Amino acid sequence: MSAIDFIKTPVAELFGSNCFSNAVMKERLPKNIYKEILAVQAGVKELTLAVAEVVAAVMRDWAISKGASHYTHWFQPLTGLTAEKHDSFISPTGDGKVIMEFSGKELVKGEPDASSFPSGGLRATFEARGYTAWDVTSPAFLKQDPTGTTLCIPTAFISYYGQALDKKVPLLKSVDALSKQAVRVLRALGNETSTRVVTTVGPEQEYFLVDKKYYDGRPDLMLTGRTVFGVLPAKGQELEDHYFGAIKERVAGFMRELNTELWKVGIPAKTQHNEVAPNQFELAPVFQNSTAAVDANQLVMETIRTVARRHGMEGLLHEKPFAGVNGSGKHNNWSMATDDGINLFDPGENPQANARFLLFAAAVVEAVDRYALLLRASVATSGNEHRLGANEAPPAIVSIFFGGPLTEIFDNISEGKSGGKSDAGELIKIGVTSLPSLPKDVSDRNRTSPFAFTGNKFEFRMLGSSQSIATPNTYLNTAAAQVLKEYADKLESLPPGSDKNEAIHDIIKKSYSKHSRIIFNGNGYTGEWVMEAERRGLPNIKNSVDALSVLIRSETIALFEDHQVFTKEELESRYQIYLEKYSKQINIEAGITLELARRSIFPAASNFAAGLARDAAALAAVGAVSAAQEKRAKRVAELTGELFDAAGKLETVLFEAQDTTDVQVQARAYYEKVKPAMEEIRTRVDALEKLLSKEAWPLPGYEELLFKL
Ligand code: ADP
Ligand code: MG
Repeated sequence: MSAIDFIKTPVAELFGSNCFSNAVMKERLPKNIYKEILAVQAGVKELTLAVAEVVAAVMRDWAISKGASHYTHWFQPLTGLTAEKHDSFISPTGDGKVIMEFSGKELVKGEPDASSFPSGGLRATFEARGYTAWDVTSPAFLKQDPTGTTLCIPTAFISYYGQALDKKVPLLKSVDALSKQAVRVLRALGNETSTRVVTTVGPEQEYFLVDKKYYDGRPDLMLTGRTVFGVLPAKGQELEDHYFGAIKERVAGFMRELNTELWKVGIPAKTQHNEVAPNQFELAPVFQNSTAAVDANQLVMETIRTVARRHGMEGLLHEKPFAGVNGSGKHNNWSMATDDGINLFDPGENPQANARFLLFAAAVVEAVDRYALLLRASVATSGNEHRLGANEAPPAIVSIFFGGPLTEIFDNISEGKSGGKSDAGELIKIGVTSLPSLPKDVSDRNRTSPFAFTGNKFEFRMLGSSQSIATPNTYLNTAAAQVLKEYADKLESLPPGSDKNEAIHDIIKKSYSKHSRIIFNGNGYTGEWVMEAERRGLPNIKNSVDALSVLIRSETIALFEDHQVFTKEELESRYQIYLEKYSKQINIEAGITLELARRSIFPAASNFAAGLARDAAALAAVGAVSAAQEKRAKRVAELTGELFDAAGKLETVLFEAQDTTDVQVQARAYYEKVKPAMEEIRTRVDALEKLLSKEAWPLPGYEELLFKL
């Protein structure tokens, strides 16, 4: 691959050059075939093999013209990562030569041997077949590395028996479910033009960069993505001098190349800046249709790591790589848009648009309150557990920030009082009264809310930085679909001649009165809020094991089955997979904790203590020893002894956890026993780090990791 001249190549030329976008399809496909593809994307037609044959040939020629030799169905198994199995286009001609082939069948359907992906019991290994099927709503793209190019086709992954084995199938189904109900509501409101509603998503991605040479000295970072030990140097993030600070040249160079790589595959990377913690950064793309956004975010994460390596750095996506400074999250900006361009969370400028907005916003309030546990479960991972409830992140309590003016409007509707301050005295009559215009920047005043209305979209902020955004969006869409379904049922069953605006008013009033407890506009990071939330009956679930248990409750199963997003079996298998993943991740962390404690820290600390004792003795021999020296030697020796004991304890509880067969009991053992035992070790190690000389310490410290770039 020739070096990219990102200074000279105009961005508009570069953008999408490696993306088989609708623009490329429009240009290269016969008109009728392109129209078919649009219909499939809109969910009104099924893809036929005849159409696929034409698209495949065009896609192949396009990819080969750009140097591709291989193609892969690119999918998202339940590991939370992406997977690919490469096939070359070659087909031998019998005379020792090959031609480049790619059929419609190969485009629409692949059969990876799926036996080694987590399936939670859905697919016995003897029936290992799984199918990947082209997801037409997300564009194919080219992956390039210095030695070649591969055509990647975003696909959904299902078992031989049709069960979803990935994160994409349920997401697609949830969008369909939401679309169906949202269109019903729109029709009831008198809209005759919109035929489909999709969700739009813009995920803001946070990450850290560390210099490769320090990263390589930290096996904990390499194996788990986070440091299991480490103390902050004299400076942390307290000066708040990193946030939005001038971007260092080395980092700016990395960001430029990152943007270029993302632009090439058609990902609209837009905003970048330094984040709060030292060496922490953020990238935000322009929002897209949710399925494309999910794929794009997976690629963003992967590209951050690839490009960082080219610049002698490592990109960290873990939720909490370092103790004592902020962790990394992902803000999932989410809205609903109709196929004819209406953003349903845009308050609008006339009474009709206002009514629609109020009704859809009320539905979100109700959905978030009723399904708060589900939203909490959607972000329950071992990495995020370090973040949720810690003081820089949203607390583990789900609540909505609405902002003063909007809250006032809803309060007034539910209490039957006069409208917002700006038109005091006037009752809000849905469909008649114009709402006072809402300030667009309300969100900037509250950064502590886990779920904030931000002018024309909602921002779900509890997501962890490393997770796929597919699951939170799947749950959110389904929860909203359920509430909209109930609204549509009501509106459609009105007796003829009844006042529709009155009915809408009534729905909002009843719904909001019942669910306004979820609205909280104050500072979500305070202890008072935790108490207040408890008084309001809002759940505050601090650990992932408890959080995940909602997945197998009967209400949850009913919700997802009603909307045909998950079957009971799929939910049960996912529950099991998530618990297993939780346990496995902590198991690896505990393993590396033990390894480092015993084989690096303990020997270093013992040697150091012995050295101090020798020095003290030598000094004593000449009558020069001070009490402080003896004390230091003693303290190091004591801590080293405690470390040894703590390691023994961790080993015991770890073996117990490993021997547990029930996944739920096992995950709980990792949470309740293994994690605290790791903490016991960390306390000792961190105390030792402060006592040993820098030369004697066997690991690069936080100073190197966080400040040297
Ligand atoms: P902030 O940091 O203030 O939250 P950013 O500009 O960093 O704002 O991120 C806002 C994100 O929200 C962007 O990814 C943007 O594209 C996205 N966004 C804007 N409008 C919508 C919408 N209608 N639907 C979904 N996402 C949206
Ligand atoms: Mg944000």
